[in-house]
Amino acid sequence: MKQITIAALAGTALLLAGAAANAQAPDFSKVEIKTTDLGNKTYMLEGQGGNITVAVGTDGIIMVDSQFAPLHDKIKAAIAKISPLPIKYLINTHYHGDHVGGNAAFHKDGATIVGHDNIRVRMVAGTTNGLTGNKVPPAEPDAVPTQTWLVGDSKVEAGGRVAQLYHTVNSHTDGDTWVYFPDANVLATGDTVSRNYPNLDWGNGGTIDGVVLAVERYLKTANDNTKIVPGHGALATKANLQEYHDMMATVRDRVKKLYDEGKTEEQVLAMKPLADLDAKWGAAQGLGTPTTFLRNVYNSFRNHD
Ligand SMILES: [Zn+2]
Ligand SMILES: [Zn+2]
Repeated sequence: MKQITIAALAGTALLLAGAAANAQAPDFSKVEIKTTDLGNKTYMLEGQGGNITVAVGTDGIIMVDSQFAPLHDKIKAAIAKISPLPIKYLINTHYHGDHVGGNAAFHKDGATIVGHDNIRVRMVAGTTNGLTGNKVPPAEPDAVPTQTWLVGDSKVEAGGRVAQLYHTVNSHTDGDTWVYFPDANVLATGDTVSRNYPNLDWGNGGTIDGVVLAVERYLKTANDNTKIVPGHGALATKANLQEYHDMMATVRDRVKKLYDEGKTEEQVLAMKPLADLDAKWGAAQGLGTPTTFLRNVYNSFRNHD
């Protein structure tokens, strides 16, 4: 009976996570929010789901991503320890449930939800994961971004703090945004960067070429002092980013060659073209495991045709 309950809960977590890279056991009551001071009134928050970035201005707060809905109270409490000011803007890096789960509750608290228009479109319509077939139903209206843009870049300001928003075309999804806080030299990447193999949501516009191009933009923006908040995993440096880039470019080149030769997904899996990389990068749970990653990369080339 207990096993059945856990299995049922795990299914719920996957649904909540949507195509989350790190869907894990969903006992949110045990999650603790860890706050890391990045300097200049800017912070990284880790709990369960995508990493959160918080920037405190003189009259309000900008936050990037909101993890899962049940963690809202804990995240809110962790931010209140940093500053008593209101959260004015909540920026979404993409539509996945482990990054937008807290949207509705933070919106009800008074935050304006900001995101690329493709996030709004996917949240309103509901989505299906290309690999697992998992469906996420349409989001409630309070959760959907109301401050959106479609072409080019955007910007959010609160109490002297500036968040520069840059859309990366067809990378982890079709609606990814990375956020740069120039006064703190902090770069939040969303799920285009992970410390393991990343999830690649090809069923919703993701491509590995787009991820490599996105990381090349980060490398141009970052210097050796830049603090990089990845979508999942520990705070990163430019050197970490370079290593991740080189891995992803290698993966792209190897799998693209096989795809272009007309090899089927099963043939490519049997050839184990990433075997030498798996030990270092394949440690993630769920959608970041070596087989799933390879399947996602292979299928993402369909979006290039
Ligand atoms: Zn994520
Ligand atoms: Zn994601």
